[in-house]
Amino acid sequence: MIDVTKIRKDFPILKREVNGKPLVYLDNAATSQTPQQVIDVIVDYYSNYNANIHRGVHALSQEATDKYEQARIKIQKHFNAAKSYEVIFTSGTTHSINIVANGFSSLIKKGDEIIVSAMEHHSNIVPWQMLCERTGAILRVIPMNLDGELILSAYHELLSDKTKLIFCNHVSNALGTVNPIKEIIDAAHKVGAAVLIDGAQAAPHIKADVQALNADFYTVSAHKICGPTGAGVLYGKEEWLNKLPPYQGGGEMIAEVTFEKTTYADLPHKFEAGTPNICGGIAMGAGLDYMNAIGFDEIAAYEHELLEYATEELLAIDGLKIYGIAKEKTAVISFNVGEIHPYDIGSILDKLGVAVRTGHHCAQPIMDFYKIPGTVRASFSFYNTKEEVDVLVAAVKKAKSMLE
Ligand code: PMP
Repeated sequence: MIDVTKIRKDFPILKREVNGKPLVYLDNAATSQTPQQVIDVIVDYYSNYNANIHRGVHALSQEATDKYEQARIKIQKHFNAAKSYEVIFTSGTTHSINIVANGFSSLIKKGDEIIVSAMEHHSNIVPWQMLCERTGAILRVIPMNLDGELILSAYHELLSDKTKLIFCNHVSNALGTVNPIKEIIDAAHKVGAAVLIDGAQAAPHIKADVQALNADFYTVSAHKICGPTGAGVLYGKEEWLNKLPPYQGGGEMIAEVTFEKTTYADLPHKFEAGTPNICGGIAMGAGLDYMNAIGFDEIAAYEHELLEYATEELLAIDGLKIYGIAKEKTAVISFNVGEIHPYDIGSILDKLGVAVRTGHHCAQPIMDFYKIPGTVRASFSFYNTKEEVDVLVAAVKKAKSMLE
């Protein structure tokens, strides 16, 4: 059982007011808040052992290197990667996806097909469109139904020996849908295609096991799991990471450099050119430590309670429609009230201290599918409370009475 009163004390930001009202932070799908335990790790890094890694003989560099590599191992264990060097530190999911999309330029040829789901974040669409432009490959789309679920029968029909790559999110940031990625991965492997799973939105709610899933690539952003912005990882199976060429050239990623020829370093360094976000990687590990101490099963169960309660209370508002009612979903509620523009509702909610996201949530194709300009999105975390749901519901009612 989650002790939410105790947990909330760990998050300094939750004590602040916005527009004279206590902050009700319901934009967790955009970024999670940071507990004191992670803030302390960041302060400790810059106060005590800030140094460049993997190259200094001095004590500080050694300490920073050790902590950074320990964080890599923590992340490896959390996602059950077979080897620590299959965990590549990046600046986040967008960077992770671009490493793979660029790497595939040399492995994809004209007429090959790559498949994307209809409910992707732009960062899991645009890099693949750019790949198609470079190579002449064809982009196919797995359609979705009105409940916000992928139509798997259509997916199976899209697969053929031309299919080289599938990319799909584990959880949709716009709708909260949990996608059946195991089935998607297994079917792809039967035709010899590789699969990249965008785990950015799943990581705060689900402890993914990349080996059990048999994912070829899995991407995560630290800022969604109580860590800092500008850090994240790309998990890749060793065989794939060895096949892909490096994404960026620079220091740290080489074995030997001469003007005639450069050889690349082994994994993971081949993909980690330049001075990385050292503190960010270490703090990402601390974010996972914090969440694991609470427990992912406990987090999922508590968030599910919040989701059910909020769904019921919001649906009681006349004219309110929720988009995405998948059987399997995380605590994200995307909604509109009648014809009121989501931005107008969001602005009034903000005046009342309630932080939600409005707009297309970087998933414009989903909004086009529902023929709407956008939604109001309330996304919950384990530190939110039922009382905060009540504040949200009262604020939406007030906005409706002012705008209708
Ligand atoms: N994919 C999904 C499903 C996301 O929710 C996000 C972040 N909103 C991203 C990709 C992009 O992550 P980042 O901005 O951290 O690179």
